[in-house]
Amino acid sequence: MKILKLTTTMFLMAAISVFAQEKKTETQNLVQVTEHIYMLQDKGGNIGLSFGDDGIFMIDDQFDRNIEKTQATIASKDKQQVQFLVNTHHHGDHTGGNLAMAKTGTVIFSQENVRKRLQKTVEDSKDMDLSKSLPMVTFTEDMTFHYNGDAIFVFHVHNAHTDGDAMVYFMNSNVIHTGDVFFNGRYPFIDLKSGGSVLGYAKALSKLLMLTNKDTKVIPGHGDLGTVADVAFTRDMLLDLHKQVSELHEEGKTEAEILKMTSITAKYDALGYGSGFISTERMLKTVYADLSKK
Ligand SMILES: [Zn+2]
Repeated sequence: MKILKLTTTMFLMAAISVFAQEKKTETQNLVQVTEHIYMLQDKGGNIGLSFGDDGIFMIDDQFDRNIEKTQATIASKDKQQVQFLVNTHHHGDHTGGNLAMAKTGTVIFSQENVRKRLQKTVEDSKDMDLSKSLPMVTFTEDMTFHYNGDAIFVFHVHNAHTDGDAMVYFMNSNVIHTGDVFFNGRYPFIDLKSGGSVLGYAKALSKLLMLTNKDTKVIPGHGDLGTVADVAFTRDMLLDLHKQVSELHEEGKTEAEILKMTSITAKYDALGYGSGFISTERMLKTVYADLSKK
């Protein structure tokens, strides 16, 4: 009996320790970027936050299932409600928290194509309560917020990750949030079905490089805080992959033949680019599919 009791206790302790570890991995990572700008990391897209005298400005809100945790993390810094929220694009790992945010009085902004795509999802779901999650203010090309001592320039980049992407540049603080038009250190997801394109993606990164300088801090859609050098590397990588695959495509090589040519991506694979959400195979398939559209 005593042995059994001991075993039960040990089992319970082991279970508690596993539970504690799980709890720990659920903690959100709030990274300070400047005195008043933060990046919040969890399972979805990276959130950007500006805290200051005017209030709280937010970029993206991850998954619906994470929003209470996100709101608690924000409240641990500042008890005010978020005043403005920008959706960088329509994907659910960036907009899932919209309904909960709107219910607290937050005003949501996006490029007009983002609202159109989200509206379609709401209509398909037949849950009209969800219409409150739609961006209340839309823009076509760009807009600027004057907030917390910053000029916050929100600008649309065309047919990059999707057809509604916006980047958010805190001009005085010299920090830019890229949305999913940058995955730091990984092959990017380019959503061809939602209007994304490989060359559009590279062009959007060139636009970022024109607007910013070597000291700009870059909050990527996914991955850790980066630099403009990281952005330039990704841009050059995409142009390189596009050039190589388009030459092979013109020679009449099939997708299967191209996928076998490990030399195309060897340089990037060695740096771990294929170890994220988008594998090497998926990256090559995307470039090939994009070329086949034309
Ligand atoms: Zn995305």
